[in-house]
Amino acid sequence: MHELSLIANLFEIMEQKAKEKNAQKITCVKLKVGILSGAVPELLETAFDIYKKNTMAAEAKLEIEKVPLKLKCQECSAVTIKQDLVFNCEQCGSTNLETLEGTDLFLEKMDLEVE
Ligand SMILES: [Zn+2]
Repeated sequence: MHELSLIANLFEIMEQKAKEKNAQKITCVKLKVGILSGAVPELLETAFDIYKKNTMAAEAKLEIEKVPLKLKCQECSAVTIKQDLVFNCEQCGSTNLETLEGTDLFLEKMDLEVE
């Protein structure tokens, strides 16, 4: 499962950040997941629940925000936000598009408990 390795990487980053802040616990984690990131939010949740046991995030809540695809047309500069995966400009129909958002998975926010 691809998501398990994504979550494993995420936990490395999270635990490092938590240690820098001398936190005892990670209480809430918010991820932004682009619809073209290649990760399925439901599988990320499952992977997170499996992985969090015996970590600082054992009781953490996971929130996932799906990020739609944001494309900028190279012909007319119109910005199109896509919930589906049809790659053409809504203004002029061009397929010469630059991807601005929607391909990444990243840690948006993390709540810590510091004693
Ligand atoms: Zn266009």
